[in-house]
Parts: sequence; structure tokens; C-alpha cells
Amino acid sequence: MKLFNSLTNKKEDFTPIQAGSVSIYSCGPTVYDKIHIGNLRAFITADLLQRSLRIVEKLSVRWVMNITDIDDKIIARLERDYPGVEPEAARAKLTTQYQEVFLQDISRVGIKQSDVQIVSAVDSMVAMQQMIENLYRQGIAYISEGSVYFSVERYRATGQVYGQLVNLDYEAEARVTDDQDQKEGVADFALWKAQKPGEPAWQFVLDGNELPGRPGWHIECSAMSVGALGQPFDIHTGGVDLKFPHHENEIAQAGGTLANYFVHNEFLNVNAEKMSKSLNNFFTLDDVADPLAFRLLCLQAHYRSQMDFSDESIQAAHNRLLGLRAAVRKNQYAQESGVTLQLKADANKAFAHNFAEAIRDDLNTPLALAALAEYEKEASMSAGFAEQIAWADQVLGIGLVNEVIPFSSEEQALIAERNAARAQSDFATSDKIRDGLRVRNIDVEDLSGSSLYWRM
Ligand code: AMP
Ligand code: ZN
Repeated sequence: MKLFNSLTNKKEDFTPIQAGSVSIYSCGPTVYDKIHIGNLRAFITADLLQRSLRIVEKLSVRWVMNITDIDDKIIARLERDYPGVEPEAARAKLTTQYQEVFLQDISRVGIKQSDVQIVSAVDSMVAMQQMIENLYRQGIAYISEGSVYFSVERYRATGQVYGQLVNLDYEAEARVTDDQDQKEGVADFALWKAQKPGEPAWQFVLDGNELPGRPGWHIECSAMSVGALGQPFDIHTGGVDLKFPHHENEIAQAGGTLANYFVHNEFLNVNAEKMSKSLNNFFTLDDVADPLAFRLLCLQAHYRSQMDFSDESIQAAHNRLLGLRAAVRKNQYAQESGVTLQLKADANKAFAHNFAEAIRDDLNTPLALAALAEYEKEASMSAGFAEQIAWADQVLGIGLVNEVIPFSSEEQALIAERNAARAQSDFATSDKIRDGLRVRNIDVEDLSGSSLYWRM
């Protein structure tokens, strides 16, 4: 499989560290509120990647995602949502609530919880503190006013490159924050933040100094990814906005090599602007009629292209999804009812090949979906179609193949009645029954010698 690696800005052949298996880490959500569907694009991309490696490349996959359950945005919510509650208890309540919502959201867009291991930042406190201590012992981290900072200058002095993911004039690009004067250098970032009044805090003794506080955001991901997958691991994922400073800092904290490949998805936009909480132009999954239609919408764009979300685009994806499901269902009912389907071996083979090749080419889902459309046109009423689609759907994850619901005895009676009317060339009656069946969502196609009935 070829993947575009943000470390080299090139499409590269993917080679796992350990033959036959692959380790993936994805930056997860901060659980202070419902996530928006722009965030979901990032998780759907990661899921597509892991499914593709499993199904197309037949690798065994270990996929880990973190939950950020302590940070500034969470703290800001505590006062509002849990006034008067002890800070740590309030934090636990808030984050448990939104972690639950998050897990439901990802499962609604086709991410199976059995495929991904979720790790919590708060549960990884020891690993984070050890990593910070290690950086401090190397002289790269320093203590200032109860917080611990990573010194970019000292890190670079060890010969490491700061700027592996972005070409940066790092001093100019570094985010200037309100704790600016506590830092040695403008690009330095917090590894550990001193407790402010009313904030939840954890004990941390570093070099004899008592530093009650909480971890910085970046250290969470370095510690959790390495803790779960070892160092280096294979693939790190996230949206393009995480390249800098988040992933750059994750790499630096890990000493220069964290993951061999970084895969970044582009933005989901609204009217050509990034969907985000701060612009207040966001939608949540509750605004979408069918979550899997949203997943299909994502797959209709390449993950490295920006895509637009609108009423029209989600409606079109929904219609397409319903059309595809109906084609599969019709084929399944034909098989169930004993209609002889011709085998189009060449079309089956061509589809399997074209679909897999498209996915192997840096997860080119628009091309894979084009191969599927072509195959549907050519072979939707031939033998093996539903099985092939079921295989492709293990990669796509959009619920294309559903259980065939047998006809009830009442429905069977209507079907038998219609078949009898047709046998006697009583087309007035057979048309009337057909219309009645359609009202019950059962469609009919009259073939030579028999009729096919299926649920629409
Ligand atoms: P955050 O909680 O902001 O760290 O976001 C979680 C994930 O969603 C990260 O991988 C972000 O890069 C990604 N993300 C945020 N906004 C968008 C967007 N509009 N389109 C695609 N991905 C996004
Ligand atoms: Zn992260």
C-alpha cells in the first residue's frame, strides 16, 4: 500500500516495522462537549486506514486512540456545568459524560469499538510524568514557576531537528501564550502546567520540587502512544491542523522519532471555511439523518482533499447510499427466491482488482467508489455481486449489506396471488396487487417466466 507520509511529503510504500502487523495511533477528542462532524472526518479517515490495512493488505492491526480528559477547555466548562462541585469530581463527571457520547458517535459512523483501543490521559499520568522526568534529566526540560517547559533551543542543541512536519521559522510561528514570560524561549511549550486555584491537579515531584498540576496536551499523546505501541510505532494519524504544533511537539518529546508515517486528513469545510467550534459553523451527528451517509460523503472525497458539507452534499450521499443498498438487496432477494443469476466472473475479478488497487493507492476512495459504481452497472443482477459488495464494505463500512427479511405469510399470500393472476394473463389484477406491494415497500420486477420481489 502507498501512503502519503507527512514526514517526507511523498507517497511512499508502506512497510510495517514488524512484518504482518501494524500499529496505529490516532489523536482522539477532548471530551468537554459533543464533537462536530469535522472531527468525525479525522476518525473516519483513521478507521478507513486501519480497515484497509486489515482487509486489503491482510495485516493484523493494533489501533489506539486517546481521550483527552484533562485540558484547558475541560477546565473552562467545570464552573459552568458543575458549579460548586469539587474540581476533580466535576472533571470526572463531565468527561465521562462526553466520552460516552463520543463512543456512541464513532460507532454510529461505522467505527467498531472492538477495532480500537481507547486510552485516557488521566489514566496515563505515571507514563507522562516519567517522560517529563526523562526530558528534565537530559536537560531539555526546565521548571519555571511551578510548571515544566520543553526547551526547543536545548533540544536543537542536541542535534535534533525541530520542524520535521512543517517547514518552520519556528520562532515566528510559535504560539505566543499568556505564560510567555515564564518561558526561556518563545517556541517552548508546557509539559506540565502548575495548578491554578479551583483546578483539578495531580501530585508530581520532580527533582525534589513539589509541582501539583496537570499535563500539557502534547505530552499526553507522546506518552500514551509510546506506552501502548512502543517506539517507534508505524502510523500516527490526525487532521492537518495537528501537524504543528501538536505532532511536531509529540515528536520532539519522544526524542526525534515517534512514528514512521504520519497520515493527515484535510478539513471538512462549510462554505469553504474549516468547520470548527470557534467559527460556530459546525454540525454534530445529530444534524445528519443517516450517520453512514455522512461516512459515505467523507469517502466520496480523497482524505487529503478539503471537502464541503452542505444540505445538498449530504442529501446526495444519502440517496446514493440508499440506491446502493437497494441494488444489493435486490440481488440478495433474487438469490433467496431461487432466480438463476448468471456468473460474470470477469466483472467480479475486475472489480476486486480495481477496488483493491484504488485503496492501495493512498486510500483513493473516490476511485474505489467509481469502481463500485461501474461494477454495479455491469453486474448488480449477477451471481456473487452481494458477496463482493460485502467484501468491499468491510473497507468502506457503510452498511451496504443488510439481513434479508423474509416475507411475512400475508406478503407471501399477496405474492402468490399475483403470480397466479399473471399465469392467467389477468394483468389488471396483477398490477393492482403490485401497487399494493409497493405501498408495503416491496418492489417487483417481472422476468421471463417468473417475477422477482424484494424489499426496497
Ligand atoms: P481536536 O479535538 O480539535 O483535537 O480535534 C480532533 C480531531 O479532529 C483532530 O484530528 C483534528 O485535526 C480533527 N479536525 C478538527 N476539525 C476538523 C475539520 N473541520 N475537518 C477535519 N478534521 C478536523
Ligand atoms: Zn495527539
